[in-house]
Amino acid sequence: MNATLRKWDFEKHKYETVENVYCVELMPPILSKIQCVNCGKEMLCGDSYTSYQWQDEIGFGYRICPTCYEAELAQRGMPWVRLGSQHSEYES
Ligand SMILES: [Zn+2]
Repeated sequence: MNATLRKWDFEKHKYETVENVYCVELMPPILSKIQCVNCGKEMLCGDSYTSYQWQDEIGFGYRICPTCYEAELAQRGMPWVRLGSQHSEYES
């Protein structure tokens, strides 16, 4: 089921309402296989990050993959924050 989520626009400094196409939940079980809220990539929940951009109505972030998380950091003007290569890729 698609969810209607809030997505922060870093340039306009306001939320837009977006119909999300991926199967996401706000707080999935930590060992479950999930999809990135931004790109749909499958990953283990434990390998994900909390999005700054994709939020519920009171500001909790949905789960996002390391690649999209780094892109969010860069958009926020924090490109010096690098995640390194410690992340495992989900093997299906
Ligand atoms: Zn992603």
